[in-house]
Formats: sequence, C-alpha cells, structure tokens
Amino acid sequence: MIPSLMPTYNRADIAFERGEGAWLFTSDGRRFLDFGAGIATSSLGHGHPHLTCAIAEQASRVMHVSNLYRVPQAERLAARLVDASFADSVFFCNSGAEANEGMVKLIRRAMHGLGQPARTRILCFEGAFHGRTLAMLAATGNAKYLEGFGEPVAGFDHVPLGNLNAVRNAITPHTAGIIVEPIQGEGGVRTCDPRFLRELRTACDEYGLFLGFDEVQCGMGRTGRLFAHEWAEVRPDVVSSAKGIGGGFPLGAILATEEVARHLTPGSHGTTFGGNPLACAAGNAVLDVVLAPGFLDGVGCLGDQLAEQLGGLVADNRDIFAGVRGRGLLLGLECVASNAALQAACLEEGLLVVAAAQNVLRLAPPLVITQADVDEAITRLQRAAARLRRQ
Ligand code: PLP
Repeated sequence: MIPSLMPTYNRADIAFERGEGAWLFTSDGRRFLDFGAGIATSSLGHGHPHLTCAIAEQASRVMHVSNLYRVPQAERLAARLVDASFADSVFFCNSGAEANEGMVKLIRRAMHGLGQPARTRILCFEGAFHGRTLAMLAATGNAKYLEGFGEPVAGFDHVPLGNLNAVRNAITPHTAGIIVEPIQGEGGVRTCDPRFLRELRTACDEYGLFLGFDEVQCGMGRTGRLFAHEWAEVRPDVVSSAKGIGGGFPLGAILATEEVARHLTPGSHGTTFGGNPLACAAGNAVLDVVLAPGFLDGVGCLGDQLAEQLGGLVADNRDIFAGVRGRGLLLGLECVASNAALQAACLEEGLLVVAAAQNVLRLAPPLVITQADVDEAITRLQRAAARLRRQ
C-alpha cells in the first residue's frame, strides 16, 4: 500500500528530533554531524538563537499579510541585498525552482519590453540543476528527471559546461539569455572557471543577451563571498537565490539590475507567500550573521582548511577517494568507490553528507561550523572509508 506521505524520496530510516549548531540528534540519543545542512540550506546550522528568536518574535506579531500591502521586513531585506550585491531590485518567492522560473520570466519579459519578443530561448548547461517545476525540468534538461512528464517545456537549449565555442554556436536570433550555476551543485560540485563566466558576459554583451546566475545552492555566503560569481568579478543581469537565504525557512529571491527588473510591472508576476513578514524576518536574521564583519572571510578560511584536510584524506585513501573539488563550504569528494555506498557508510559513522552527480560526495555544512567540526568530519570520513573497505 502506498505510504500516506507520497514516496518521492528514498529516505534514510532516521528522524531527527532536535539540532544544535552543526549537530542533529535523534530521540534515542544518537547524534550526527550535519555536513549536508539540509542540502546547503541550514546556513546558520540548527537552533541558531538569533534566527529562531527572529522567527518566533515575528510569528507572534504577524506572519502573513499578502503583497497587497507594504511589508517592511521585505523592503528592508531587499534594500540590504541591493546594498550588498550587483542588484538594483529584488523579488521574493519561496523556493529555488520558483526563483529560477521568475528569472526566466524576467529575461523573456525584458526582451519583450525591449521590442524583441521573438527572443525567448534560454541557453543552459549540461549537468545543470534548476528545479522540478515543468519549465525548470526543461531548463535542467536531464532525461532522468524529465521521464514520464510529457513534452518538455519549449525554449531551452543545452551546451557542455565550460565550452565557449559551443555557447557561441548555440546562440540564435531567438536566444534571450544564458543561465548558469557558477558552481553546479547537484551536477557534482563542478566549479566554472572564472574566465568562462567572464567570457559568457562578453558573449552576452556582444549578442545583446541577459546573463543569469543560478546561485540557489552556491550563493548566500557559501563560497566565502555573498555570491559565488563575485570571485570571477563578473556582472550578472539576474541572479536567483534560495536555500541558505532563509537559513531553513522557505524563502527564495530574484535579484536583478534595473535594466531588467523594470520590465516586471505591477500585475506581471506575483506570489501569495513570497516575501511575507515571517520569511523576510528569517532572511534578515540570516543576513545579520552572514554580513557581519569578518563572517564571510571566516567561511572562506574554513573552506580552505576543510579542502586541505580533505586533500589529506584523499591521499590516505586513494582506493576510496580520487580528489577534491569546489570552493568555500561547497566541496565535493570525488569517489573511486560508489558515492552512495560512501554516503551510507558516513551515516553509519554519524556524519551526514549528500551524494551528487559524477560519483561525488558533497559536503555543504552550515556556514557557522568550527575547526573542531571540520576535524570531527575528517575523522568520521576516515572511519567511513575504513568501514567501506571492510565491507
Ligand atoms: N537551483 C539549484 C542550483 C539547486 O541546487 C536547486 C535545488 O537543489 C534548485 C535550483 C531548486 O531549488 P528548490 O528545491 O528550492 O526548488
């Protein structure tokens, strides 16, 4: 008989009752070091006092009012994101897929507003993951996810990541923009060469296209900068955000330059929940921590440290691991053994990690971890490798 909770996930048979920092606890007293962070989402870890107080306090005042009225928490969050980024204006929604849908709508609408309504197609990359709505499945382009859902939504073309010639060859008079993850998360923690991102900007300028970055997974401080594209010093037109922006509370955002954003006029796009007082109170609390002086530098340093120690782990276990990739606290362990078997062995050793494509084991811990957490994760990974070897 089908479970009452629709079985769309192969869930591990474990449930957490409570969390503290980078640790999660079960009701029978077991504890797990969380280096998955709810898939790069619990950016402040679990039970962070500033975030939980902000949510509780806002919930007791007013949670939801609709976007028919001013929402001061959203105005403040948008202003802070604008101050801290390339963007001139922000639209709030509830998830990564929704932010990406909005990003595509924004790009198409801007082309329409600029008198080029035939330019609707978006160039995406092989290995991408942009979400599970019908249009974002088409943008993702992965046959496995598209199977059984009928004709893919039209308007998306795909080329290999990092191949500028392929990008240029794929641009047609119908192309409106390019969307890329500066680091592909689900795709295997594949980091775009900064030069490639800059070359995309050049191509967009040359052909009059908009450049969109999907920073749902790699953004909001995860690489040691607020947004991962900042490392490449490249100016986007639109960026999507979600996951870490609410620290575990559902929140997404589309950040855009005025040139693009001005085309979304009243009535052209909307949401019931997006940017409500509760979600934006969470977003503001996350920003209080992430934008505090020195925090992002700390994330970068700890990421470097983790990468270095993972390098040592790889050297000690060449039969299990092949290398390290990624940036900041979005790192991937390239596996020789099966990443799924390793993920299971890590769970046995009390370490939560997340498998990704290309046989990679993804580490995306809360941004508030300490050196002691890093050392503990390495110890548990060593044990997981030994466990796998014994099996
Ligand atoms: N974009 C990227 C880069 C992602 O990693 C994800 C989720 O993993 C999404 C979009 C979809 O986000 P959501 O699951 O919140 O819709």
